[in-house]
Amino acid sequence: MDIPPDVQKQLDEQKKQCVFCKIVGGEIAGKKVFDDDLTMAVLDINPAVKGHTLVMPKEHYPILPYIPRNVFLHVFGVLPNIVKAIKESLIVFGVNIFIANGGVAGQQSPHFLFHIFPRESGDGLEKFDFGPGKNLDSDKVSEGVKALSYAVPLLMRKFFSQNHESWHSGSGSTPEFLSVIRDSSDIVYEDERVLCVTPKNPFCAGHLILYSKVVEKLFENLDSDNSSHLFQVASIAASACFEGLQAHGTNIVLKSGKCPDNPSELLSVHIIPRWQDDGINLSWNPNKGLNDGDVSSIIRDKTFFIGTRENVSVAPATPHRSTENVVKVSVTQKPDIEQIDDAVKRVRM
Ligand SMILES: [Zn+2]
Repeated sequence: MDIPPDVQKQLDEQKKQCVFCKIVGGEIAGKKVFDDDLTMAVLDINPAVKGHTLVMPKEHYPILPYIPRNVFLHVFGVLPNIVKAIKESLIVFGVNIFIANGGVAGQQSPHFLFHIFPRESGDGLEKFDFGPGKNLDSDKVSEGVKALSYAVPLLMRKFFSQNHESWHSGSGSTPEFLSVIRDSSDIVYEDERVLCVTPKNPFCAGHLILYSKVVEKLFENLDSDNSSHLFQVASIAASACFEGLQAHGTNIVLKSGKCPDNPSELLSVHIIPRWQDDGINLSWNPNKGLNDGDVSSIIRDKTFFIGTRENVSVAPATPHRSTENVVKVSVTQKPDIEQIDDAVKRVRM
């Protein structure tokens, strides 16, 4: 990745203090459930639910936009298989994948990672409902739709111009299972594989929902290319929230399959722009002990069979975004949430 030497030096210093780099390097024991050349998944030591798993690139990247394209493709490409293994191991029917970009969104680690929550009825995680928000400022909501309808397609055009995909030539057609959503929402962006809308009754200003056009309900049925494209668009939509709405952070929350806060069971990815003191609380209560016992070995027995992604890019690591305005992360003795937040806010395509 084309990171200026001074920034790389700062990142190298940050890595020395990073708990997750130490787990990757074997200095600290972690309950590993999966690892390959580029990816590692460990059980959370403060789990919200049984099987709560953290997935991360092995290399230390402070924020999502820093992840080189080949690593991004690989980590999000192997993800459906990790989810499938967790669901089969714990016999659950629903799952969430949760990403926090920035301190205000709940990012707690300077090493980019995301959470997998296997879901069950009454598991106490019903806060991912994202139904109509209360007391929303209608002007702010409509300004959000306008800004994102401009910014998301613009950033996606930029992305495709830098990363040509042979399958992409336009907006594609809408599958039957998304026709009601298409007709009842404002379309922000679509291509052959995804549809991105703002719901008529959003959870907050700037709320975006991304649907797969390929798979209706179960994330684990996506192939690696479609999984990484879904998260690629989610990542770019999150960047659009920084660019177009001057958000302080974003949450990316994937819902798939059966759980109380996903009554339609549709596969969807919610992008929630976050601001300081926005009153939104997506944090969870840790339930120590839930991941004790043989949880990790049960999952590991299933992930053992996950092969290396067949068509993963073997091109040299290149950033999937311009590093023209590269983010600077200062060196600290401990992970500094404010600095990560500040770095995220300064991300530019
Ligand atoms: Zn690290």
